[in-house]
Amino acid sequence: MKRALISGITGQDGSFLAELLLSKGYEVHGIVRRASTFNTDRLDSIYLDPHEPNATLHLHYGDVTDGASLRHIMDKAQPDEVYNLAAQSHVRVSFDQAEYTADVVATGTLRFLEVLRDYVSPGGKQVRFYQAGSSEMFGSANPPQSESTEFQPRSPYAVSKVAAHWYSVNYREAYGLFICNGILFNHESPRRGETFVTRKITRALGRIKLGLQEKLFLGNLTAMRDWGYAGDYVEAMWLMLQQDQPDDYVVATGESHSVTEFLDLAAFHYGIDNWRRYVETDPRYFRPTDVNYLLGDPSKIRRKLGWQPKVTFEELIRKMVDHDMELAKQEQTLTHAGHKVVMRGLSHG
Ligand code: NAP
Ligand code: GDP
Repeated sequence: MKRALISGITGQDGSFLAELLLSKGYEVHGIVRRASTFNTDRLDSIYLDPHEPNATLHLHYGDVTDGASLRHIMDKAQPDEVYNLAAQSHVRVSFDQAEYTADVVATGTLRFLEVLRDYVSPGGKQVRFYQAGSSEMFGSANPPQSESTEFQPRSPYAVSKVAAHWYSVNYREAYGLFICNGILFNHESPRRGETFVTRKITRALGRIKLGLQEKLFLGNLTAMRDWGYAGDYVEAMWLMLQQDQPDDYVVATGESHSVTEFLDLAAFHYGIDNWRRYVETDPRYFRPTDVNYLLGDPSKIRRKLGWQPKVTFEELIRKMVDHDMELAKQEQTLTHAGHKVVMRGLSHG
């Protein structure tokens, strides 16, 4: 049985990847940050009490800002594959918490690579490492962006991801480690954090549809993104680590849409006639420097690994709308029963 270790397992991608690996028969270990409230909701459907004899998902407390914890977990989990997904992953927040973002995203990756380097010392076990890179690294580079496009990062998050990318390339070359950088364009799902623009829209329009919310405050509506489905993208991560040689790959759909187009389609699926009546701009959601146009060129991963996305832009939005309509209905039921339902995160995203 192969063993995998996932940092960021409680996040959107971590939960999809854990499901994929379990379905392939892996024993999965995940790193969970200690929090005062439970942060494992996305893992509920696959979590088994560790006392169960057939439990193959194991969670460990740790943090990528704490190198010693990474060493302990590597020793315990003894993984064949490591997926480093942990990140302060919100671009807008990275302007407010720039040093922290660098510590988690850039130096956190370096800490992990140092642990890997010791662990895979000569004669030691071979471990394959996936680094979660981002299309944000391309920043203001002209579209379409491919593996050969120069990075022009536009946020502390993107700069930190560029550093993590180059640390990974350097450790691959210097120490002969099996390390792959995935350069993933935006990918979404009903599990996407609620302060990212797609989920913020599908959550808010559901509530607006049922009269639970009046307004949706957004920032830059002209930004263009290459949006795919997270379930498809974790397959690309896994595929990269199954090859004979480590390499770096862009993962994208090859289609780009504006935030306005996302609003159009989401409103259409909800049966909302004119979303402009409900949407207002709020300066707090603009970034000091934004990325205007991301459009990935996925030809390398299609050609070399045979990967291509299955879920279209429209299907992605439908999945998110259907899910968030159900959530809004549940909130409506609670509201009718006299409960106060708070829309969390509205001021943060
Ligand atoms: P996400 O939902 O924000 O998940 C991030 C995960 O990292 C969470 O499990 C979080 O734990 C964990 N984490 C944060 N700080 C940590 C720390 N100091 N130590 C250990 N764990 C920590 O992000 P995602 O959408 O799944 O993305 C996964 C990775 O891909 C991230 O590295 C992200 O930057 C990158 N990426 C994402 C996209 C995208 O469109 N989704 C595109 C390109 C790259 P908590 O649950 O406790 O917060
Ligand atoms: P990002 O591409 O990783 O920054 O993903 P986001 O979903 O956070 O943002 C995508 C684009 O939507 C960016 O260009 C944002 O400036 C834009 N945007 C417009 N309004 C909002 C908002 O209210 N929240 C967020 N998160 N992004 C917004």
